[in-house]
Amino acid sequence: METMGFEEMWEKIIACDKTYDGLFYTAVKTTKIYCRPSCRSRKPKKENVRFYAHREEAQTAGFRACKRCRPEAERTPHAALIRSVSAFLLREHKQALSLRDISAFAGVSRYHLERLFKQETSETPRSFLEKIRVDKAARLLRTTDRGSLDICYESGFRSPSHFYKAFRRLTACTPSQYRRRSADSGDAAACGTDPAHPPKEVVVRE
Ligand SMILES: [Zn+2]
Repeated sequence: METMGFEEMWEKIIACDKTYDGLFYTAVKTTKIYCRPSCRSRKPKKENVRFYAHREEAQTAGFRACKRCRPEAERTPHAALIRSVSAFLLREHKQALSLRDISAFAGVSRYHLERLFKQETSETPRSFLEKIRVDKAARLLRTTDRGSLDICYESGFRSPSHFYKAFRRLTACTPSQYRRRSADSGDAAACGTDPAHPPKEVVVRE
């Protein structure tokens, strides 16, 4: 999957991040089982993991669906539509996207899209997109030495003030505080929370 690298997906499964459910699947070579990113089963060894963008690919490669997280089961009739919208947002997060653009992609009205999206993910398309952008920015702050302004635009934000506000709201710290903390702890840091764990607002747990 081109929109996320291996390390990035690995971080999501370690955090059991529900935000990315349906956007990729984790297959484990030793057990021949594949899972959703949020699966609470014991984490596999990194070298045994393969990621697939579509569950059909995992199945074709000989992996069976996990009994615990049931990656093959659609939870609601709208799951497939919302998954394709989430994948669209992840893929296009650097573009300026209005709710009109997103609903045009989904082929349903804006009102209908907001309602279905909320039902399925407890987010609006806009807050989901913001979460993805903050997540991308946080990763760039942790893994590169690029400047905040550069990272702001690279993650899809259109203005520094919006970037700082959104980043603060979701991680409880400024981009530079976040960078300093993760350099100190050597891990995904969050202000006001255990530095070994990513911010609560970004990682949606069950
Ligand atoms: Zn599982």
